[in-house]
Amino acid sequence: MLGGGVVELSVRAGRRRVMAEFFSTMKIGSIKKFSLVDFPGRRALVVFTQGCDWECPYCHFRSLIRPARFQPPWPEEEVFALLENGAEGLDAVVVSGGEPLVQPGLAWFLRQIKERKMAIKLETNGSRPWVLQELLAEGLVDYVALDVKGPLGNYSKFAGCEVDPGVIELAMEVVRTSGVDYEFRTTLVGGLHSVEEVRALAPLVHGARRFVVQHYRGPEGMGAGFNFSPPSVVLVDAAKAACGAAVGEFIEREVS
Ligand code: SF4
Repeated sequence: MLGGGVVELSVRAGRRRVMAEFFSTMKIGSIKKFSLVDFPGRRALVVFTQGCDWECPYCHFRSLIRPARFQPPWPEEEVFALLENGAEGLDAVVVSGGEPLVQPGLAWFLRQIKERKMAIKLETNGSRPWVLQELLAEGLVDYVALDVKGPLGNYSKFAGCEVDPGVIELAMEVVRTSGVDYEFRTTLVGGLHSVEEVRALAPLVHGARRFVVQHYRGPEGMGAGFNFSPPSVVLVDAAKAACGAAVGEFIEREVS
C-alpha cells in the first residue's frame, strides 16, 4: 500500500500530465532539425505548425494550410528530445507555419523551449497581435519576423481573405515597440504585386529596424486567376528604391 506522501506525489504528477496534455495542443506539421540561415546568428531547429487563418493565393505551404493535406502531427516530445540530444550547438528554435499564433498551445510550447535555454524566433502573418503581445510580454520571443504582404488598402488581395488593415497596423506597432529584435518582410510575387503597390510599402515600413524583401520562387501559375512568377528586376528595384533608405537595414532574400 502506498504511503500518503507517495500518493500525493503521484497525484501531483498525474495532474501535471493532464495539464500538459490540456495545454499542449500544438500541431506540428514538419521540422527542420538544423539551420544556420533561419535565425540570424543562431544555430536553430525550425518547427512548422499546421493550420493558417489566411489563404494567400501564392502560398506554397499547401500541406500546412489545407487540413485535407495534413500529415499526422509530430509530438512535441520529439522536438524537446531533439533540443536535448539533437544537432550539437543548437541554441534556438524558429517557430513558423502555417500560422503559429492560431495554435492554442503555443504559449505552453514556447515556455517549454525557454526552459531549455533556447532563443526563440517567431514568424507570423500578424493576424493576432493581441496573442503576439502576450507572448512578448511574457518574454517568450526573442525575434519576430512579421509579414507585411502588401499595402494596407489592398491587403485582402494578398491574404486571400478579408483582413482588417487596422489589425496589421496594430501588429506592426506591437513589434516595433516590443524591444526585441525584428524584421518586417514582404515576399514579392510576379503577377501579384504591382510596382505601385511595392512603392506604397515605403510609408508602412518607414523607420523599421530591418525590412526583408523575399523573392517568390514557388511554382509558376499557382492560385486561381493568377499566374505567379518570381518578381521582375523592375519590381525588386522599385522596392529597393522606395524602401531602402526608409529602413535601418534592407535585405534581399530568395525563398524556395
Ligand atoms: S499566411 Fe503564410 S502560411 Fe498562411 S496562407 Fe499566407 S503564406 Fe501561407
